[in-house]
Amino acid sequence: MSQPLSRRSVIKLGAFAAMTFWVRRVPAETAPFALPPLPWEESALAPTISGQTISFHYGKHHRTYVDNLNKLVAGSELADLPLERVVQETAGKSDKIAIFHNAAQAWNHTFYWNSLSPKGGGKPSGKLLEQIERDFGGFDSFRTKLAQAAIGQFGSGWAWLVKSGGRLEILATANADTPITMGKKPLLTIDVWEHAYYLDYQNRRADYVNAVIDKLLHWDFAARQFASE
Ligand code: ZN
Repeated sequence: MSQPLSRRSVIKLGAFAAMTFWVRRVPAETAPFALPPLPWEESALAPTISGQTISFHYGKHHRTYVDNLNKLVAGSELADLPLERVVQETAGKSDKIAIFHNAAQAWNHTFYWNSLSPKGGGKPSGKLLEQIERDFGGFDSFRTKLAQAAIGQFGSGWAWLVKSGGRLEILATANADTPITMGKKPLLTIDVWEHAYYLDYQNRRADYVNAVIDKLLHWDFAARQFASE
């Protein structure tokens, strides 16, 4: 008698099917990387982030990273890889720097959209909250450190909550740099490039960061990343 598939097997089968999909669909003249749809309507995060900001940020900035990446990898073996692998394969290689910048920004932005929710903010719960309390000495202390990392990042970049070796960490990365090249698993990110907030907050990055943390961070998404391997 056959056993029902375990949850893990189903997840593995799903990942395998996704990989097969990636490998199969490489028709010569078709762009290998697509701009994923937003997980909510453009105006859904207003007034914390306006529809106008999302329209430019997603429709112009994110789209341009994807379009540039497609031009840069056209005809190369990188066009056959999943996006995450392109980021990892090109990181730190001076002759691949333009591909890395565009691939990493394409990946980081998709992760950022998923890190935000119109019903976000507040606190996580369950095991993720327990580990935040353990690793940062309480949720309020975590919140302060995340805000400091995001506000204090000099110039363009990102603030992240990541899982690393069984512990949670807060990271700030510059420009396109991303924890997925550092062996760390991102749970949430905040984009602190000026294009993420300038239309709504001008130079007041701290106001944007605090509003995103308190009203938009998608803790259910973070909990799913936390629980997955
Ligand atoms: Zn951005």
